[in-house]
Amino acid sequence: MSTIDPLPPLRSVILKHDLSAQKSLGQNFLLDLNLTAKIARQAGDLEGWDVLEIGPGPGGLTRGLLAEGARKVVAIEKDSRCISALQEISEAYPNRLQIIEGDALRIDLSAHLTPPIRVVANLPYNVGTELLVRWLTPKQWPPYWDSLTLMFQSEVAERIVAQPGSKAYGRLAILTQWRCDARVMMSLPSEAFTPPPKVSSAVVHLNALERPRFQADQKVLEKIVAKAFNQRRKMLRSSLKGICPDIETKLTVSGINPTQRAEEISLEKFCSLAREINCYELNLNDLSP
Ligand code: SAM
Repeated sequence: MSTIDPLPPLRSVILKHDLSAQKSLGQNFLLDLNLTAKIARQAGDLEGWDVLEIGPGPGGLTRGLLAEGARKVVAIEKDSRCISALQEISEAYPNRLQIIEGDALRIDLSAHLTPPIRVVANLPYNVGTELLVRWLTPKQWPPYWDSLTLMFQSEVAERIVAQPGSKAYGRLAILTQWRCDARVMMSLPSEAFTPPPKVSSAVVHLNALERPRFQADQKVLEKIVAKAFNQRRKMLRSSLKGICPDIETKLTVSGINPTQRAEEISLEKFCSLAREINCYELNLNDLSP
């Protein structure tokens, strides 16, 4: 029996179901259930909330979420070997765990959840950033979720909360902070995982704002930021050249000196620039993200 529930310890679960970690699936498991319960608590109150979990693996974080009172956990796992282990958790928590076998990049997960919704996950490294960008750029805002509590490599966590002037500041910081409050909640050394990855990790908590911090067209902002940071060492008058007619004047009107570089520009200034640029005048061919 474990410390947080009547189920067996995770090491026994892994042995029983033969869940040797596979690198290709980004499998670095958390086996300390006190730690997974602590990560679950970083999401805030879970009672009365549906939780979406990506990549439950042998179920350490899933058990943390259920023990911490989540109304329902919807867990999507790509590795079919994990499903029988997860079914044992589902039996211990009747009607509170829905297991979906599949690829989180291919399934519309919102359909399985009832608001209010939190997303909590120890993400597979190979798809973590892609999933985050998708959560941050839905067709409609506010999104179906209220908060995201996600484990990333520390380097990615730093990029999410980065401020202008830092090396980590870029597209991910702007996309996140435009529509969310974001904080790093805790750091984890690589030894917390089995097998230990090469780098440390951190849990980031994002709360969706009711509306974006500054007005801007999502597509225009995304395109400007992608192009500006694609050549982050260049002056903006060069990196944004050709994006639309008369970019130098638009930069100046937005309070940006055309000789400045992308990493010096605040989110507010990027949004001002986006408002100066009409999406119809964007040279979309020139804007591979
Ligand atoms: N949540 C578990 C834990 O904390 O110990 C496992 C985390 S492990 C870092 C990532 C998990 O995501 C693995 O179980 C892996 O099989 C699963 N995974 C990888 N790619 C996936 C995908 N595209 N969709 C769903 N699950 C995926």
